Amino acid sequence: MSEKKHFETRAIELTDTSISNANPVSTPIYLSSTYKRNEDGSYTNDLIYSRHNNPNRDQLEKAAADLENGTFGFAFSSGMAAISAVLQTLKNGDHLLIPDDVYYAVRKLLADVCSGWGIEFDFVDMTNIEAVKNAVKPNTALIWMESPSNPLLKITDIQAVVEICKIQGCLSCVDNTWATPVLQNPLNFEVDIVMHSSSKYFGGHSDVIGGILVTNKESLSEKLKAIQSLSGAVQAPFDSWLINRGIKTMALRVERQSSNAFLLAKFLEKHPKVHTVLYPGLESHPQHHIALKQYNGIHYGGMISVLIDGGASEAISVSNKLELFTTATSLGGVESLIEHRKSVEGPDSHTPENLLRISVGIEHIEDLINDWKQALE
Ligand SMILES: *Cc1c(COP(=O)(O)O)cnc(C)c1O
Repeated sequence: MSEKKHFETRAIELTDTSISNANPVSTPIYLSSTYKRNEDGSYTNDLIYSRHNNPNRDQLEKAAADLENGTFGFAFSSGMAAISAVLQTLKNGDHLLIPDDVYYAVRKLLADVCSGWGIEFDFVDMTNIEAVKNAVKPNTALIWMESPSNPLLKITDIQAVVEICKIQGCLSCVDNTWATPVLQNPLNFEVDIVMHSSSKYFGGHSDVIGGILVTNKESLSEKLKAIQSLSGAVQAPFDSWLINRGIKTMALRVERQSSNAFLLAKFLEKHPKVHTVLYPGLESHPQHHIALKQYNGIHYGGMISVLIDGGASEAISVSNKLELFTTATSLGGVESLIEHRKSVEGPDSHTPENLLRISVGIEHIEDLINDWKQALE
């Protein structure tokens, strides 16, 4: 074909080749759903079809695995999709243990969606190791941990629970969303799977939803890869790109959020209108001694829960008076958020009605404390 091709053909050909001779500093976004086979039928970098693999998702999965001291990473379209993938490793007749104050959507997922699958579950106070031991049944196949927990900030002794899992020969999984891989690495305690809602601190700017699983176990990784690629709840290229960008500044953000949270928790703890402050960095926290040995360093995260003197209306009124803390669900972003948790969790929630959950942002701490001063006046 030496003649100039027709308009329609040129419109396709001129726009579908990759741009060569570019050395971008920021990673390009690979929106391609499919990838060209080599002449021998093989694929470059196992890139076949973007449900199976995608360069932006691969980059995110490798980074997340490495930052969690793991080998195999999997990125999903939400934290709940990542949790569902773990549940899909179970079989009919299996039993699992979950924390009594587990993230409320996990409780709902098990009750409303998985109830017909023959999976049994029991709630247990994961901070009470004897209670965990006693709750294990012959068919217990998974112990789910969330440390710190949402919204009570209970700290589970991960190592102690992993010992129980080893004796039972069952899987262990930690939802590490609130601690972030900057502050806590559960794989160091030989947990099987670490899970994150990357909608929170990984993304860090309240503009993307995602989930991550990391493991060191090869056979488990093959199972998770099959579930991810065949169930198909994969992280999209642009969303992977946003989370990769978030990862670059995660340590800086989490450090500032943690130091702000510690100072705000100290301030609130002394305030006469505050009944209780739940923050693992405070000596008054019931599992502070476990936090001390389990966290990597001197920081304890950006999440605080406070019980305001009074009931639901007093708590909601305080949250409405705050100017720098937006009343919204979610957490982990650069902006401070606050939420009356019971209102979100609905009628079967066990959360105290005077509890406000605070996600501390990276604003200046003096302004944040002054805002609380005026709101509590
Ligand atoms: C937000 C959150 C989840 C759920 O993640 P999504 O990305 O919203 O699906 C799970 N666990 C914890 C601790 C969370 O904070």
